[in-house]
Amino acid sequence: MKTRSCIRCHSTTQPAVLENAASESDSLALRIERMPVLACPEGHRQFVSADFPRWLVEHLMDEDEAKLPSGREEGMLFKHYRCGECGADLAKEPDGSKTFAFDVELLDLDPFRVELTAPVYKCPQCSREQLHSLKEVRGLTPQVLGEAFRAAEIPPG
Ligand SMILES: [Zn+2]
Ligand SMILES: [Zn+2]
Repeated sequence: MKTRSCIRCHSTTQPAVLENAASESDSLALRIERMPVLACPEGHRQFVSADFPRWLVEHLMDEDEAKLPSGREEGMLFKHYRCGECGADLAKEPDGSKTFAFDVELLDLDPFRVELTAPVYKCPQCSREQLHSLKEVRGLTPQVLGEAFRAAEIPPG
């Protein structure tokens, strides 16, 4: 991957690692560990590519979150949720929350860890622990990711 100069002070950047970044919304918390970035001698950090945030959000939504156990959302006005495994009705209140960890590998970068913590619902019939809806988690992902990067002071682009 070609190097870029610092978008804040224009000095030369070197590959570096962002030890961690985190953010939290109503029903989704996100934590990133050891993400590859670029840093200049002044300590300004930036993405390895302007496209990095898009690559990451697409990877999370299309590959990682797609593997999470989840229920099915039904109803237009009055949503309810059914077990993704056996179809039994899931409770409205979660039984707790659970952290799901992914090792994400983008292009030729070193793999890094992304953890998502979300409420889980235990099926009364088959005991499967699951999210209410994958659609809801996916819908929140770009926002929590953006907030984590803002908190870590990584500018867009
Ligand atoms: Zn700089
Ligand atoms: Zn079930």
